[in-house]
Amino acid sequence: MAFKPANNIQDLQYFGEFGGVNPSISDSSTYTFLSAKTMFDTFEGNADGCYLYSRHSSPSNLYLGEALAAMEGTETANVTASGMGAITPVILQLCSTGDHIISSRTIYGGTYAFLKNFTPRLGISTSFIDITKLDIVEAAIKENTKIIFCESVSNPLLEVADLKGLAKLAKKHDLKLVVDNTFSPLSISPIQLGAEIVIHSLTKFINGSSDTVGGVVCGTQKFIDDLRNVNDGACMLLGSTMDSFRAASILKNLRTLHIRMQQHSKNGLFLAEKFEADGLKTVYPGLQSHPSHKLFKSMMNPQYGFGGMLTIDVGTSHKANELMELMQKKNLGYLAVSLGFYKTLFSAPGSSTSSEIPEEEQKEMGLSEGLIRFSIGLDADIERTYQTMKTCMVELNILKP
Ligand SMILES: *Cc1c(COP(=O)(O)O)cnc(C)c1O
Repeated sequence: MAFKPANNIQDLQYFGEFGGVNPSISDSSTYTFLSAKTMFDTFEGNADGCYLYSRHSSPSNLYLGEALAAMEGTETANVTASGMGAITPVILQLCSTGDHIISSRTIYGGTYAFLKNFTPRLGISTSFIDITKLDIVEAAIKENTKIIFCESVSNPLLEVADLKGLAKLAKKHDLKLVVDNTFSPLSISPIQLGAEIVIHSLTKFINGSSDTVGGVVCGTQKFIDDLRNVNDGACMLLGSTMDSFRAASILKNLRTLHIRMQQHSKNGLFLAEKFEADGLKTVYPGLQSHPSHKLFKSMMNPQYGFGGMLTIDVGTSHKANELMELMQKKNLGYLAVSLGFYKTLFSAPGSSTSSEIPEEEQKEMGLSEGLIRFSIGLDADIERTYQTMKTCMVELNILKP
């Protein structure tokens, strides 16, 4: 039977402490023990179901982790204070001085900066490669390579990773395939395609209300236990722990993710098709013209569509800025970074979310200055949105009337 991520979330049953339909929020940083022996066993990691201290785990965080693990089909998960607070401990848990990482060159700016500028201080090196070419990936593997890191759908260029192919390579060379699935929750299930660890920034689609940052690592019980180990666990020791109140509110938002993703995707596809027909240079995985359209189709859970992210290229950064300011003025959305909000968000990645990437490298990977990244909102009337957007583009001579 096909993997049904939304059913897996739906089927979880919660009985709060007092019979509430939502679990109670755990409002404690520390926990009592009836016997000193149990406290010792808990510190040794041998007392299941006992809580120690909330940097390690807390009931609210475990509930959210359980739901996200069910969504991704992993044994368990650990939630973190931000997406970067999930990515950095995973990398530091898996790599030591002298190790090497293969990473897609089109990744989130923060992840890029961490691998490019921070991990070399610890003697960990990274090769940034074109992840869409499996032969290039394999050629980059060295004796000391430990990880292949990529995003299912990359930020901001919307390149699609061949997760099955990468998983095969990882297996052959005994590497871990770590996938950041932030752009494609529900649509793509990386574990089903052979990935070993899946990460999300919960800040984006999963929480969906742009009111908090958050992250998660989904993986095997063994790996999550390693991350939480009191002696050498990167999550436990680096301390990027989510607060219980946030975990409870993100869990509630997660329950409508399937409906929101369907609407984001429906609106994304509608606008992408219109923009392309108007002659705009449009990138959206749901378009036939996208170089990895077929690949995406072969990997996706079809009912959630091709997602809410698209880019257009209007030529110059001046035009891009003019258009974004005008669209905001016409209340079509916000000139803001981030994604997954109910309103459309737009930004020019070259000067914002990808500004960590040097200009020279931006050019090489096809990140042009006139590129605008859209996170398409939940607009009920997307036809009206399109008409107003078109009016803005005509006014600025980007489109002919
Ligand atoms: C936003 C984002 C991150 C970082 O997440 P934060 O919650 O901001 O720390 C990582 N990867 C991708 C693809 C993102 O979009």
